[in-house]
Amino acid sequence: MTLAANLEAIERRIARAAERAGRAPSTVRLIAVSKGHPSAAIRELYAAGHRDFGESYAQELESKAAELADLGELRWHMIGHLQRNKARSVVRHVTSVHSVDSIALASELGRRARAVAEERAQRFGPEHARLDVLVEVSIAGEAQKSGVAQDALAELLAAVESDPALRLVGLMCIPPWGDEPEAARPYFEKLARLRDEHGGAERLPELSMGMTHDFEQAIAAGATIVRVGTAIFGERPPRRG
Ligand SMILES: *Cc1c(COP(=O)(O)O)cnc(C)c1O
Repeated sequence: MTLAANLEAIERRIARAAERAGRAPSTVRLIAVSKGHPSAAIRELYAAGHRDFGESYAQELESKAAELADLGELRWHMIGHLQRNKARSVVRHVTSVHSVDSIALASELGRRARAVAEERAQRFGPEHARLDVLVEVSIAGEAQKSGVAQDALAELLAAVESDPALRLVGLMCIPPWGDEPEAARPYFEKLARLRDEHGGAERLPELSMGMTHDFEQAIAAGATIVRVGTAIFGERPPRRG
């Protein structure tokens, strides 16, 4: 199978999952998660018409963004845990960050995005002068290291909203790994409930949830963005260093 054929197969599964949930397929967007895979693979999918790509590591994102700078419509999304000292490099390349989990990180992203707002508007379009932010929630509670604690969510949402360089667009979660995709469903439903408790779809239009293993369950629970890597690109080589 070619990468384009893999992509098409996933898009069909997304559309069917949306229809089963009584939703239009266009209400679910696919981020192709390219971490661990070479720029050539991204180029191949771009040629097939795909535009949204996700990376998890700031350094890898930076080098791929340089290698693929000629692909003018490509949109990068930072989906992995982000250290504050990487905020500066990331805001130059991405239209969204899905992994904001502290006020300190939000304010550093805001500061850095503000400094390059004009460059961002020129490169990505005026609507992207501000950086789209999704707040990552620790959906399994204390067992989970990444994501904001649920009792600190309200304060973080308010902080993102009050920063003029950021645009609050939604919530993101990564459920704990379970062998059965169905095991993730309660976590996805919980993120949807949290969204309802914190202003609903008006304030938080995007729910970024679901990966290769469980994106259909996520769509059933209301995902508007799914992040799929392995099912498109194949297994990732083990990460070095
Ligand atoms: C790697 C990664 C994905 C994609 O995972 P697959 O199982 O390969 O689809 C999605 N979201 C995040 C945050 C990731 O780090």
